Amino acid sequence: MHPYESAGRTGRAIVVGGSVAGLLAARVLADAFDHVLVLDRDEMPLQAAHRKGVPQSRHAHGLLDKGRAILDELLPGFTADIVARGAVTADTHADVIWYNDGRRMLRAPSDMTALCVSRPTLEAYVRSRVAALPQVEIRAGVAVDGLTVADGRVTGVRTRDEILRADVVVDATGRSNRGPAWLTEHGYAAPPEDTVKAGLVYVTREYRRDPAAQDYAAIVVGHHPANPTSTGTLAAEGDRWIVTLMGVNDDIPPLDGPGFEAYAARLDGPELSRLLATAEPLTEPTRFRIGPSARRRYERCDRLPEGYLALGDSLCCFNPAYGQGMTTAAMAAQWLGQCLRSGRDGLTRRYFAGVTAIVDTPWDITVSGDLRFPHVPGTRTGRVKLLNAYLSKVHVAAQADPFVGQTFLKAVNFLISPQQLMSPRMLWRVWRGRKAQPVAQTAPRDLTPVA
Ligand SMILES: Cc1cc2nc3c(=O)[nH]c(=O)nc-3n(C[C@H](O)[C@H](O)[C@H](O)COP(=O)(O)OP(=O)(O)OC[C@H]3O[C@@H](n4cnc5c(N)ncnc54)[C@H](O)[C@@H]3O)c2cc1C
Repeated sequence: MHPYESAGRTGRAIVVGGSVAGLLAARVLADAFDHVLVLDRDEMPLQAAHRKGVPQSRHAHGLLDKGRAILDELLPGFTADIVARGAVTADTHADVIWYNDGRRMLRAPSDMTALCVSRPTLEAYVRSRVAALPQVEIRAGVAVDGLTVADGRVTGVRTRDEILRADVVVDATGRSNRGPAWLTEHGYAAPPEDTVKAGLVYVTREYRRDPAAQDYAAIVVGHHPANPTSTGTLAAEGDRWIVTLMGVNDDIPPLDGPGFEAYAARLDGPELSRLLATAEPLTEPTRFRIGPSARRRYERCDRLPEGYLALGDSLCCFNPAYGQGMTTAAMAAQWLGQCLRSGRDGLTRRYFAGVTAIVDTPWDITVSGDLRFPHVPGTRTGRVKLLNAYLSKVHVAAQADPFVGQTFLKAVNFLISPQQLMSPRMLWRVWRGRKAQPVAQTAPRDLTPVA
């Protein structure tokens, strides 16, 4: 029996929102309920395609290694299947050009896998697997307007045309979710909300990729106060580069081709400019202005209707520059599965009490990273200042010490706890490398796919 499977499925669960978070929630609910109904207001394309409800899909989406591992657990064969659809796998440390704080990390072999795939292909794959589960029904073109609640329990959802009954309702409606408003309609207080506004603007353009021409599968240049221009440039299926440039507030990448490429020259490191000098553009640049990161603290609500859950961006949406959204949704889905295996009593409270510990780490990474920028409002605690000062030293040392680089990458991929960045061995290596200079990179790897 699959570890997520439980005998004796009963009842119906409704998931509102059929994007990555909603689909992963449906995957674990299908082990406990005999009918899992996923409702999405969009029409769902049969193939990988952009759609209105997920406008972020045109921009580079990195899947952290922890997220990839959970997807392999929930949908066995995920990595192999998605590679068969053209996704590029690479060594997260050896095959990615990383700049943090303007410091280029020394590339070195590791046991981490970066899976480079476009967001529509990833979502279409997950949808096809979840839709194939006998308990799951996906209804497209259905917008949910609210909840129905009786005697302290969620009893279903309201659409324009009908009421659909359910024992559990999951809000997976994303960044612009209405869950808190749905609760207040029934006399419940909206959850307290923490927000941080980093003011990032994404602009993305696709280029043709010749897999034999570069010895890397991604360029990730992080923004920092001395240079707020950043990029996530990822190889993708179909021999493409998805080139996302990010600016802050009004200093944003232009939407015309020459302006876009000129903006890339402002990045730390010459690699992207060199790439764009010869690569053939395939699309026009397209823009997305990122709203605030928002964390809804359901665990602090005195009262919630039993059976109500929230998962994915509706629970917490992050500054996407850190690539955490899909992985955090996967971790929350995994936790929901664990909660369901202990029964349904007190499910709402147990789920929210535990999921908050999952959200803590990505939220801390997002907030402490954003608070390095003077324009971002928020309280700079001593802990945040110390952490950021230490991370700057980590990035200096990672220019020459693969152990330091790898430990950092494992922490931001959620493979180890952030506390391990402060282990005695790390502290020693970071101190020893405090004056390190970039090391010339030798022996590039061949990333040409094997025929
Ligand atoms: C520009 C950008 C770049 C990003 N980059 C990354 C990255 O590199 N790595 C990463 O892991 N994450 C990234 N993210 C975050 C990632 O896109 C989300 O975390 C991920 O899509 C999971 O979101 P979700 O499923 O909760 O919501 P969404 O993907 O936003 O989907 C919400 C769904 O709900 C549906 N819906 C909304 N309202 C209703 C309603 N009333 N009734 C029915 N259906 C409804 C919508 O149609 C949609 O399908 C990025 C986000 C942005 C904005």
